[in-house]
Amino acid sequence: MTVTGRCLCGAVRWESLELPIVTRVCWCRECRYLGAGSGTVNACFRTAAFKVVGTTLDFSSIADSGNRMHRRFCGDCGTPLFSEAEVRPHLIFVRVGTFDDPNLANPVVTIWTSSAPRWASIDAELPRVEMQPPPAA
Ligand SMILES: [Zn+2]
Ligand SMILES: [Zn+2]
Repeated sequence: MTVTGRCLCGAVRWESLELPIVTRVCWCRECRYLGAGSGTVNACFRTAAFKVVGTTLDFSSIADSGNRMHRRFCGDCGTPLFSEAEVRPHLIFVRVGTFDDPNLANPVVTIWTSSAPRWASIDAELPRVEMQPPPAA
């Protein structure tokens, strides 16, 4: 099973030889910047089976946990593509907006609901975590 995706302009493409380990909807403050007000949907893949073609720019920051995060995006069109924590180099989180087939991602939980605005539309069927959940794997 190969999962593929790309940024809006196509300068960055990615491919995974495996389905995501887990997909989560996130309403944290950072995601609301990236999601234009809404939350983001992020699929976690094993980096061992993941390949990126093209050049990304990196916005690096320190999370509340103290971990250094890298959020990578296309320098040509600005599409946010990836998020990685230095402490977990075996995992890469991919913005589901970049999937060629978004139906290959199946969100199983909504996280950071404490940060969502009152008008947020949150799937009533999914479990909710108020803040940061434990690591994906
Ligand atoms: Zn692009
Ligand atoms: Zn988030």
